[in-house]
Amino acid sequence: MTMFASYSEDSVTWAEDLVNTYNIVRETEKMPDVAALAELLVAHGIRLKEVPSRRDLEAARALRPVLRGAFEAPDEAAAVTLLNGVLADHRALPHYTNHDGKPWHLHVADPEASPVDQYGVNAAMGLLNVITTAGMSRLHVCVGNRCAEVFVDISRNQSRRYCSPQICGNRASAAAHRARRTSGNPAD
Ligand SMILES: [Zn+2]
Ligand SMILES: [Zn+2]
Repeated sequence: MTMFASYSEDSVTWAEDLVNTYNIVRETEKMPDVAALAELLVAHGIRLKEVPSRRDLEAARALRPVLRGAFEAPDEAAAVTLLNGVLADHRALPHYTNHDGKPWHLHVADPEASPVDQYGVNAAMGLLNVITTAGMSRLHVCVGNRCAEVFVDISRNQSRRYCSPQICGNRASAAAHRARRTSGNPAD
C-alpha cells in the first residue's frame, strides 16, 4: 500500500482491527482481557514499556465506538472533528524521530504516554491521513449479513463492499444465488 503517507499504513490497520475486536451486530468480544489487548498492541508494533492495565483495557474498549463513529460519520467535517477530538483526548505530541536508524520522520504519539494514549493517537492519525489524502469514501462499514465490521478500501477502483471477500462476500453471493433459484429466474 503506497498510496497513503507512510505514517498511516500500520495505523490504519490498527484502527480497523481495534474497532473490529467488538462485533456490534453479533455482540462478540475479541478483546476479553488485558492479555488480548497486549497481544493486539504488540502485533501492531506499538511498543509497551509495561503490561497494559485493566484501565488500559477499558480505555481501549471505549475507543472502539468513537473510532467507529469516523466510519459512520455523515460527512468529512464530522469525521475530522471527531478524530481531532481523539488526538486532543489522547495527548498527541508531534515530534520528529530517527529511531532504529530510520531517516527523520514524524511521530504524533507522545513516547512517554501510556499505551492507551499512544494507540488512540495512532488510530486517529491513520484515519485522518486516509480522509485527507484519499477521501472519506474510503471508510466503510461491511454490508455483509450480521457483520458491520469496518474497513478502509484501498483498492484502485474502490469497489469493496465487504470486510472480507472470502467470508462476507462469498456468503452474500451464495445468498443471492439461492434467492435467484427460489424466485425461478431462468437466467440462473
Ligand atoms: Zn517511526
Ligand atoms: Zn463483513
